[in-house]
Amino acid sequence: MNFAAARRNMVERQVIARGVTDPQVIAAMLEVPRHLFIEEALRAQAYGDAPLPIGQRQTISQPYMVASMTEALCLRRHDQVLEIGTGSGYQSAILAKIVRRVLTIERIPELARQARRVLDATGCGNVQIRVGDGTLGWPEEAPFDAIIVTAGAPTIPDEYRRQLAIGGRLVIPVGDRSSQMLLRVVRTGEANYREESLLGCRFVPLIGEHGWGNEGNGL
Ligand code: SAH
Repeated sequence: MNFAAARRNMVERQVIARGVTDPQVIAAMLEVPRHLFIEEALRAQAYGDAPLPIGQRQTISQPYMVASMTEALCLRRHDQVLEIGTGSGYQSAILAKIVRRVLTIERIPELARQARRVLDATGCGNVQIRVGDGTLGWPEEAPFDAIIVTAGAPTIPDEYRRQLAIGGRLVIPVGDRSSQMLLRVVRTGEANYREESLLGCRFVPLIGEHGWGNEGNGL
């Protein structure tokens, strides 16, 4: 299988054709080898238009979702970004190609370990991974120019608003356990936030102190 050709095709048909225009997002998606973030048995599907299982009942997001969320963050090269839900590490790698520094939190240690291996193998040394409850954010490293949450939350944890720099952008799916609305919150001043709805989506639940309980997840 020609992965580079499959990747170009993915970017043209799933990303550009659906309206993503940010050149940094397009370049990052052309560059990052998505198939390396997926177990070997599923690699032939790596550039398909769908999320895929990554073990531990979690998923790597659909490429279009990764592209639109990244575009919605309005990133600049010198930004420091916080990601919640490292999962496979693919979204972290996309961010790492665009910005100076990425901090990412994953609650499942096995996923964090595997993501670290692939991020090192793909030249993403500017990603720092922490194992823990991402609903608390990463207060010691705040403020963040952008925060991206890649699991569905019941409400927006206050910690994220507090840890945004002024001018900072938060992108987060909010709704019930199976379907959500992707929201963007921009911190426009010390105590001012602007909030807008972007698109409907389906993420695995954000589990933690300011998220969902872990019933039914067995972890
Ligand atoms: N960004 C990932 C998507 C992974 S799916 C990728 O590109 O592959 C969402 C991830 O969020 C899962 O790995 C899940 O374990 C993790 N997660 C759920 N609740 C969390 C929490 N409170 N803190 C950190 N990670 C969490």
